[in-house]
Amino acid sequence: MVAEQLQARGIADRKLLEAFLAVPRHLFVDPALGNRAYDDCSFPIGYEQTISQPYIIAFMIQSLEVTRYTRVLEVGTGSGYQTAILSLLARDVFTIERLAPLLRKAESALSLVGTGSVRVKEADGSLGWPSYAPFDRIIVSAAMKDRPLELLDQLAEEGKLIAPISGDAEHLVLFAKEGGALREERLARCAFVPLLKGEA
Ligand code: SAH
Repeated sequence: MVAEQLQARGIADRKLLEAFLAVPRHLFVDPALGNRAYDDCSFPIGYEQTISQPYIIAFMIQSLEVTRYTRVLEVGTGSGYQTAILSLLARDVFTIERLAPLLRKAESALSLVGTGSVRVKEADGSLGWPSYAPFDRIIVSAAMKDRPLELLDQLAEEGKLIAPISGDAEHLVLFAKEGGALREERLARCAFVPLLKGEA
């Protein structure tokens, strides 16, 4: 998976590749999938949600430049697989999931792998986590209709946020706070599950 899906497509960050080698993806998917857990695709994880394709996770994290000095907010814990990868790279990970049963499953999978510092919360993640803000990096794993204004408010100066934004066509958009200004860059086309708003 790491050689064929990540390195061959230009993911070169050594620590990021090591994190993918360290986290067993099969613990985060239906056991019936067996070794297909390492296939080049997303898979259903119940409740109409999916575990993301490994390459997309790697591309997003590489674009964000997550280091051991960064505090990361993740919106959409899902299976917890990306949470585990982030936790091996960042100083602290704060992850929010709106669907309680998925969060419980993710927590039990995370407890099986050696992760770094992870705090979880069941809520609408588009509102962020004000008590722990500001965050150096924010990663959103479900498609937003508009620019993530509440999350940008909770992004530190010199911070970066990546989110799928669905307009006429869905794109991964990187937002960077640089010298008091906000830079916005469309990186690639993508297809994520839609963000759910409000109470579950
Ligand atoms: N990176 C995750 C992707 C999970 S899919 C993985 O690889 O497993 C996106 C997740 O976002 C789903 O679990 C969905 O329930 C969650 N989600 C959707 N809307 C949300 C919201 N407003 N707040 C928090 N989580 C949300």
